Amino acid sequence: MVPVMPDDPRLKLAVQKSGRLTEPSLDLLSRCGLKLSRGKDQLMGFGENMPLDVLFVRDDDIPDLVQEDVCDLGLVGLNVLEEKRLELAARGHPARFQCVRVLDFGRCRLSLAVPEGVAFGGLSSLAGKRIATTYPYLLGRYLRERDVSAEIVVLSGAVEIAPRLGRADAICDLVSTGSTLQANHLREVETVLESHAALIRTPVALPPGKDEWVQRLLKRIEGVQQVRESKYILLHAPRAALAQIRRLLPGCEAPTIIPLEGHPDKVAVHAVCRENVFWETLEDLKKAGASALLVLPVEKMLD
Ligand code: ATP
Ligand code: ZN
Repeated sequence: MVPVMPDDPRLKLAVQKSGRLTEPSLDLLSRCGLKLSRGKDQLMGFGENMPLDVLFVRDDDIPDLVQEDVCDLGLVGLNVLEEKRLELAARGHPARFQCVRVLDFGRCRLSLAVPEGVAFGGLSSLAGKRIATTYPYLLGRYLRERDVSAEIVVLSGAVEIAPRLGRADAICDLVSTGSTLQANHLREVETVLESHAALIRTPVALPPGKDEWVQRLLKRIEGVQQVRESKYILLHAPRAALAQIRRLLPGCEAPTIIPLEGHPDKVAVHAVCRENVFWETLEDLKKAGASALLVLPVEKMLD
């Protein structure tokens, strides 16, 4: 464990060391402006331009590190958080980490799957069967709430091969594209939990200097997430078609309308669209009379 000084003025943020969340977490931090230098041991990254250091750990350890105040912040999947919350509740302890921001990466779902060729007539067909999972608390709650009693086989990994090894009749595991299930001849039948990454924080009140940086980071994360989908659109429009063209601009509140020198019947329209601008939208805008259409990516946004 990395020793952390209780009055350390630098924020400590826990990130998955090596796995699916590592690259998108580091990408988010870099888009928030953080320049990180990683030491030889790779256990800790030093924020060169912010008072923030990154601890690289297993994702399953992140909720504990944050609620025990070893780290101030953590980036982790909702699946891990909710499993931990239920596990703590079963032991009579409330979870002390707080979820402060839903993030737009790490999307996946915890799903039930049965071997291809096995008939599935609803959840009740799993009654009395063995279901292998690494998420016994989430699965247990799901079955309990639906009055289905099945045997939960707790595994620490390689859940998808359990049916082939004769250890289970069905599985409950994380799925994103479904290709792993397909490769193992399994069929997804029910969703237990929709998941995504989240930013969590310690329950302990932070000193003002640290808290200010948490707020700045939250604002920057908001900006980064907004611009991922946003586009800046420029076009020329006949004044007569302006109302229709404004209606076609996706997720745009107040476009800037500029007169065009030498063209009294035309204007230039500049707008930030907070949704992606697809080819279909451009084609519709053109049909409505727009010309000289230009769509640009937005790099930073601060409201
Ligand atoms: P660790 O060694 O850190 O414990 P791990 O094997 O538990 O790693 P990964 O497979 O890297 O973890 O997944 C980390 C997180 O990524 C998951 O807990 C989940 O929130 C998210 N995730 C997104 N898509 C998927 C997917 N298709 N399968 C598994 N996890 C996914
Ligand atoms: Zn893990």
